[in-house]
Amino acid sequence: MTSWQLNKDGRSLGQALAFAALVTAALTANAQEAGAQNAPPEREITNVTGDLYRFRQIRHIGMFLVTPEGIIVVDPTNSELAGWLKVQLDERFGLPVRYVIYSHSHNDHASGGEFFADTATFIGHENMRANLQRPPEDAPLLPREQLWDANGDGLIQENEIDIAMYSNNFARRDSDGNGGLNRAEIWAARFGGNQVPPDITYTNRATVRLGGKTVELHYTGRNHSDDMTVVLFPEERTIYTVDFLTPNRPPRTQLDGGFLPEWVDSLRRVEQLDFDIISPGHESPGTKAHVTEQREYLEELVGAVEAGIAEGRTREELMESILMEDYVHLIEYDYSRALNVAGAYEILISNQ
Ligand SMILES: [Zn+2]
Repeated sequence: MTSWQLNKDGRSLGQALAFAALVTAALTANAQEAGAQNAPPEREITNVTGDLYRFRQIRHIGMFLVTPEGIIVVDPTNSELAGWLKVQLDERFGLPVRYVIYSHSHNDHASGGEFFADTATFIGHENMRANLQRPPEDAPLLPREQLWDANGDGLIQENEIDIAMYSNNFARRDSDGNGGLNRAEIWAARFGGNQVPPDITYTNRATVRLGGKTVELHYTGRNHSDDMTVVLFPEERTIYTVDFLTPNRPPRTQLDGGFLPEWVDSLRRVEQLDFDIISPGHESPGTKAHVTEQREYLEELVGAVEAGIAEGRTREELMESILMEDYVHLIEYDYSRALNVAGAYEILISNQ
């Protein structure tokens, strides 16, 4: 089902498809002029199954479930998208958002909740509370960050880091302008912002019931973050997973902020859940086979990097030699493979 079927103007599917074809032709003409043929719309809503939908802006995706008593939104994402979504939900369904569920506290998925704060209860994993607290300016660097701190001054200068999240816009990240990032400034890159904090937190598992429908929240352990929720829609046999599990794509770049080897165990717990469809926070939906593939990818990566560390190999040597050749078909393999090795090396060696 496409977003066109959401229109409430009485168009039949056939009419909608004919209209969509006309619009597509017009868009294609415009896109060709702009040199961006087949570019998807900037924002859209698509149906997964039943009353369960994905909403997307560029490469970030959240979900919502419609019930007779209101709507459950998962990951408001950012203020621009959440404001657009609120208008869409009001127009299409005329129902209030009763719950906002968070996948995790990172600012590129958990922002925008202010648009629903007047009607919704916010729910997330208990570790979100601490993660949303800005550390003091004199908080020590984390063990992995200490690896980067080559001159040992307790700050990360621009030439000490090769992770784009920090090295891009370095001057903006360095909010006190002293030429180095402290723990609080590093925290702000992912966690800073105005996320509405959760009203309710849970530890291992929680269930939300609304309008005769059920949503389950599962904590499967530390992975991309330590506050990650897998959202399971049991009647729709669908899970929503963000950043730690993307079908057909390895985790992005240096696995910054991630936890190894626990990430592998977390994927193993997802394999035990009862579902058919993964609807991810990035990229396209997949199946349970994609969970197994991701777990095997990460298991091989961790095993190879651990073996390399035991042999005394350097990070750079392992980036050259660990090729993950069974996974060349994955999206962004060329972009992330060597960076995944570098990140796994840093995480594993700083755990020692
Ligand atoms: Zn994240």
